[in-house]
Amino acid sequence: MLLLCQQVRLVEGDDHLVWGLDEGCGFSVRSLKVGLEASLEMESSYLMEWNNFVPKKVGIHAWRVEMERIPVLFSLAKRGIPVPSVVCPVCEVEVESAEHVTISCYFAQSVWSVIETWCKVLPIYTFSVKDVLELHRHSSLSSRKAKVFHAVCLTTIWCLWRARNAVVFERKLMTVF
Ligand SMILES: [Zn+2]
Repeated sequence: MLLLCQQVRLVEGDDHLVWGLDEGCGFSVRSLKVGLEASLEMESSYLMEWNNFVPKKVGIHAWRVEMERIPVLFSLAKRGIPVPSVVCPVCEVEVESAEHVTISCYFAQSVWSVIETWCKVLPIYTFSVKDVLELHRHSSLSSRKAKVFHAVCLTTIWCLWRARNAVVFERKLMTVF
């Protein structure tokens, strides 16, 4: 919608609508398609590396997390969906975003700390979901082990979201062990 309502021009004469994506020719499905594709490219240019060691739903979930396309409280509120609070239901300190659930929440940090010990990799420092998805590329592991480590990271992202949902919908308590 933002794409379609970018400009309002005040000019002399009667009011009329102008198709802003292709002013010379007016509305066309082709110009709409080109405009939408350009808009989607601007949202995320990250190329997800798929991993056949995990179920497709796990990879797709990680892809959606990277694009901030999971229904966290902050995203719901941004879309105008009424939520009682945007504060993370796990730590009850920070705003719940996809990045927060996956990386910066204390619970997620505890889980990643266990993962680095378990997988015997260098300490994990990440600032974005993309960093998590790229960890295996910067490890000193062989290509086979790096693929396994990538699968562990994807599965961890999936499990963090499931654990969050268990807190929200089943009132369960989170524990790392
Ligand atoms: Zn939190």
